[in-house]
This record gives sequence, C-alpha cells and structure tokens, in this order.
Amino acid sequence: MISLDEARRRVLDGVVPLTPTEIACEYTAGLVLAQDVVAAENVPPFANTAVDGYAVRSADVSAACELRVIGTVAAGDGTEWSVGAGEALRIMTGAVMPVGADAVVMVEDTEPLAGDRVRIGKAIAAGVAVRPVADDVRAGAVVFARGTVLSPAGAGVLSSINARQVSVYPRVKVALLSTGDELVTDGSPLRRGQIRESNLTMLEILLTNDECEVSNLGVIADDEATLERVLLDAARNNDAIVTSGGVSMGDFDVVKAVLSRIAEMQWMQMAVKPAKPFAFGILTVDGRRVPVFGLPGNPVSSMISFELLARAALRKMMGHTRDLVRPLVRAIADSPLRRKPDGKVHFMRVFAQFGDDGRVHVRDTGPQGSHQLAATAAANALAVVPDGTGVVAGADVDVMLLGNH
Ligand code: AMP
Ligand code: MG
Repeated sequence: MISLDEARRRVLDGVVPLTPTEIACEYTAGLVLAQDVVAAENVPPFANTAVDGYAVRSADVSAACELRVIGTVAAGDGTEWSVGAGEALRIMTGAVMPVGADAVVMVEDTEPLAGDRVRIGKAIAAGVAVRPVADDVRAGAVVFARGTVLSPAGAGVLSSINARQVSVYPRVKVALLSTGDELVTDGSPLRRGQIRESNLTMLEILLTNDECEVSNLGVIADDEATLERVLLDAARNNDAIVTSGGVSMGDFDVVKAVLSRIAEMQWMQMAVKPAKPFAFGILTVDGRRVPVFGLPGNPVSSMISFELLARAALRKMMGHTRDLVRPLVRAIADSPLRRKPDGKVHFMRVFAQFGDDGRVHVRDTGPQGSHQLAATAAANALAVVPDGTGVVAGADVDVMLLGNH
C-alpha cells in the first residue's frame, strides 16, 4: 500500500495543464485566467450619482435652503447639463454628474415646492453620493493576474471593462463510463443479481460542478473488445477518461485487463478507506496523451477517490495551482468517530456545521460501508480519521468540506 500523498503525487505528476484558449467572458466563471487582464476602460466611465435626488453645488448648501430646479436627467441620458449658483438638477441613480455640481442630495432629504423650486433639508459636503470616474477599475490597471479563478462577479468585471474574450484554461472534456454487467440504467425491473447504476449519475454531477465538460458514455458491458473500442474512441475525442468499477482483483475486472494492455497504467493500493484501489495512467492515441482515472466501483469509494485524486488532477489540467485538493479545517467531533486500526487513514462521512462557539462541529451520518451511498448523501464533509481507534466525542478532527449543502 502507498500513502494518499504518494498516490496524489503520482497522479499530479502525470498530468499537465491544457493549452489555453480564448473564450467569451460570459462563459469564464469557474475557469482560470491564462494571462493578466489589463483594463482598457475606466469603470465607471464618468462621474455619476449614487442616489436619486438633486445634483447641487455643495457651497450653496451649507445649511437648509431652496434651489431652482433646471431640469431632470436619467441614467443613460447624455445631455450635458451645467448647474450654476442657486441651481439644482433632478438626477437619477447612474446619471452623469452635471458640470458645476459636486454633491447629490438624496430625494428623501428634499421637498418639492411650487413652480421650479426644491427645498433642501440640510447641509451637504462636497463629494457626497458622487461616484467618481474609475473608482471601481482604472484603465491601464491589471484587474486580474494570470492564475486568477474567475468568479461570477469576475466574469461581470470582464464584461464591465469590455474584455469580451479572454485567454483561459479550458474545461477538461471528460469521457465518463462505468462497467458492470449487473448494472441497470433504464428503469426496467431488476432481474436476480442486478442493481441500479448510481455512480455515473453522481460522477457526472461532481465533474460538472468542477467545470468539466462531460460525455457520459453509460455502462459498458464487461467485455474486453467492446471496452477497448470505447476507450480508444473516448481518448480520441476527450482530454481525460474517468471509469468506474473493474479496477480491483475480481475475475471480471475488464477495465484492468484492457487498460493494462493499451495504456501505461499504475495500479495503486492506497492506505485509505474507503477507496483503496485506484488506477491512473496515460492512454496515447494519435499522439495525444490522455489521462485515465480508474475509480473503484463501490459507490462511496468511487466518490471519495474522485474527491481525493481525480479532482485534483483535473483541476491541475484546468490551470489551477491553488487548492488542488480541498483544504482541511479543524473541527470538533460531536459524536465519536470510531474505527478499527488497519494501517489506513479513514475518510468518514460526516455532517459539518458551525456551532454557537464559532467552530465547525461534525457528526457522523450513519453506516460507513463503501456500498452505503445513502449515508454519504447526508454528508457535507469527510472527517480524516488517522490510523487507530478513532476520535472520541468532543475531540478535534480534521475535516474536508465538500462544498455541497
Ligand atoms: P467493481 O469495482 O466493479 O468490482 O465493483 C465493486 C462494487 O461496486 C460491486 O458491488 C458493484 O456492483 C458496485 N458497482 C460498480 N459500479 C457501480 C455503479 N456504476 N453503480 C453502482 N454500483 C456499482
Ligand atoms: Mg465490476
């Protein structure tokens, strides 16, 4: 058995970032920038008002007073207004500040009077409720450095500076398949020995959440010739392949049989429970080197080995350098996390939430068998329980927050 760190090192060493590509800013959220982005424009492009009200000369409003209203300007109205002494301009949020005015009295502090006059309720200082030009982004500034992971707000910023296309690491195109003659996907009644497929459903969502573009190839029969054809085809059309099942020591572990023949594989046994077996390798087709992640078939093992290994590698391929693996936080075990010594680190499914003490508290979510996906479904974190007899209630434990509920 090798340690998780060693397995991870081998997997990460085996993949390289994809070639960056230009994509439209509205599709960049979650992706990593491959170049610095320099603002070509100021945001906002002109000084404007932060409130609905009256643009005034603050020197005129050193106390409550009356002013003459010279007109109205809405957001988007390009009219060039100029406010003189004793004058005010009715103005709506986002409209251009008129020449001469240096503050905006919000409408709540005013009272319209007869004719073209307005009463201003109190004094105002220069600059109040004015958004200066470029106070969000200045033209020429590096807005985002290379390596930045774009958030939805980040994509919005790109839009705000008219960076319509930016160079990012693309989404990894992943072919996903499961093996197992016992697996049923079409809703038909189960015959003796059959079970319903669950891993493809789960893994497709995990991959999509991590910004991969998934081709779900479904369940492939436990037949070597068929599987070989499907894998070679998948390698031609994708950047990576994720398989579920067939990587352990069984007689019908066809994934193992076929990949051993056509790819450069490492068959790993990790000192981790669940998720001991893990296969990683490179399938070279038409000169393209396509990483293959062979996850175990037991649903919980499948999920955890995806989380611990495949996800990190896919993130590296998408240009991530930070947080390839989810960070650990120190939590308090509210229930005992019992285990038996076996030389492995156990990743136990737990539910984590903040307590009144401001700390993260976890409790286990039920049976911890590697086939018991239902207890995993209630978990939002994995407790890292080192070799030994476990963690007693009230003790500290490291947990990996999974990013769901
Ligand atoms: P394997 O890794 O193929 O030996 O499968 C290990 C266990 O996981 C067996 O009990 C399989 O029936 C089950 N299994 C394999 N693949 C899936 C899947 N896609 N969905 C649900 N269970 C699976
Ligand atoms: Mg199988």
